[in-house]
Parts: sequence; structure tokens; C-alpha cells
Amino acid sequence: MSDRDGKIWMDGQMVDWRDAKVHVLTHTMHYGCGAFEGVRAYNTVNGPAIFRLDDHTERLLNSAKILRMKVPFSKEQLNQAQVDIIRENKLESGYIRPLIWIGDKKLGVSPKGNTIHAMVAAWTWGAYLGEDGMKRGIRVKTSSYTRHHVNITMTQAKTVSNYTNSILANTEATDDGYDEALLLDAAGFVSEGSGENIFIVKNGVIYTPDLSAGALNGITRNTVFQIAKDLGIEVVQKRITRDEVYIADEAFFTGTAAEVTPIRELDRIEIGCGSRGPITEKIQSAYFDIVNGRNPKYAHWLTKV
Ligand code: PMP
Repeated sequence: MSDRDGKIWMDGQMVDWRDAKVHVLTHTMHYGCGAFEGVRAYNTVNGPAIFRLDDHTERLLNSAKILRMKVPFSKEQLNQAQVDIIRENKLESGYIRPLIWIGDKKLGVSPKGNTIHAMVAAWTWGAYLGEDGMKRGIRVKTSSYTRHHVNITMTQAKTVSNYTNSILANTEATDDGYDEALLLDAAGFVSEGSGENIFIVKNGVIYTPDLSAGALNGITRNTVFQIAKDLGIEVVQKRITRDEVYIADEAFFTGTAAEVTPIRELDRIEIGCGSRGPITEKIQSAYFDIVNGRNPKYAHWLTKV
């Protein structure tokens, strides 16, 4: 990915893509203490716009706060950097990756006295779990890896180190021929996918794990809450067992990258009709209306580039 034309925003400057480098002794590269975001820009009916930009930047700064990192940029500066990076790379839509990391001034575990840096990059990225998966649903495996306990690496922060667990789970699942992993929390209850929140539908009610299961407080998850409210569908946050997923009528993953992706199987057990369910389809379609600027009620969630 490093050999490309274009620009990356690094510590306040637009740098040529190929020159956006850090030293091998960068603290975050050794110990994994960093915060990042995944944001999407859509080519809406009113031109390119970033979806829920302010909410993503707020979560980024909160992740840094949880990690005790003092970010030398304001929310406004980071918001502007994300708008600028889409414009600078002449993208109509794409994925935006902001990252906050600890520099290379010293290399003990303690980050005290080190520098804190920020970058923002953007590139085009289609359906994260495949176009086919968006229509037919994906095949998921319950992971042999447990999701983070809430008092280990901090589950409300989108931290770099949390993703080793995600990588292990996703690699195991995809090596076994599945599309994605479902992780359980330390007590054995459903938590989330390696990069997605999970929802199930049973008898017309939508259920999702409450955040004590160690799942990230997803912005797409919150968008689904709003959509369900508009559609008059009840959403309940509660502890969910893996066998509740097996016997659900429908299930789907949500995430900025994954958007709303139906799940058709868990552990080779067909969920509902074994394809995208009707409520999932309604939520998915409402989601794409919102992100593409076709629902004026949520125009405030789109920041024009
Ligand atoms: N959980 C994890 C582990 C994730 O990586 C993501 C993607 N950021 C999500 C949930 C969904 O969060 P969001 O909807 O804010 O992208």
C-alpha cells in the first residue's frame, strides 16, 4: 500500500504517500499503544460527504484519552484533516484511516517523555465482506479466542493492540473457510465480530449485546438503533448466548467498513432462512439511503467534502 500516488496528512502536513514514513523504533510499533478510527466517505446525491465524521473524531479522541495519550491536535483540526484528505486525493468515496501513535524518542514501556503523532489517510474500499455477502449473507464461525475482558486493554477504546485479538480470530475463521469470526466474552456470552458489532432478530424484535460484553460502541450500531426506531422495531441490548444466534430468525453484522452485512450461518448452522432476512434487508436499505444522502432526516450526519 505504500507505493502509491497521492497524499497522507501527517502531523498537520500533507505528505507524498510514498514519503509518509515512521522510524522502526516507533513506540507504538513495539508495544501497540495507539488509537485509530475507520471512517467512510460516500458519493452522496449532493456530492462526496463523510458519514458521522464528528462522532468518529470524538471516539478517536476518547480512545486516546482512555490510553492516557495527549493528542496535540484539536477535534476541529482532525475533522478538517479528514475532509482535506478526501479532497486532496480527489476521492468521491472511500475509507478514511486516522491514527494516533507514540513516537520514537525513547523505547521503554513508559511513554512518558515521548511524542504523540497523528496521521490521516484515505483510499477507495468497496464492500468489506464482499458484494455477494451483502446480498446472500456471510458464513461465520464462533472463535476459539475470547474477546477482551473489559478490564484488560479497555474495550471502549479503538486501540491498535485490541486488534491482535481480532486478527487471530479472523485468521482462524477464514483459514477454516468462513468469512468472519464471532467472538464470545470471557463469560461465554456473544460479544462482537473481529471488526463488527452483531445483531440478531427474533419474533420481530432486534437484540444486540450490551457493551459490558466488551463490544465496541459502534457508530453503525448506533445508526441501526435510529433506523429501527424510525421503522418502529424494538431494539433490546442484553446478554446473548451463541445458541440464541443459532435459533434467531435473522442475524447481521454492522460496522463502518462492513456497513450492514447479513449473517446466513454460524458454525455451519443456518440462521433463519439461511439468507438475508426481511428485517435485515430493511435496515440495510435504510442505512444505504442515509449514508448516500437520500434521507433528509439524517443530513446532519453527512459532512460535505
Ligand atoms: N467492533 C469492532 C471490533 C470494530 O473494529 C468495529 C469497526 N470500527 C466495530 C465494532 C463497529 O464500529 P463502527 O460501527 O463504529 O465502525
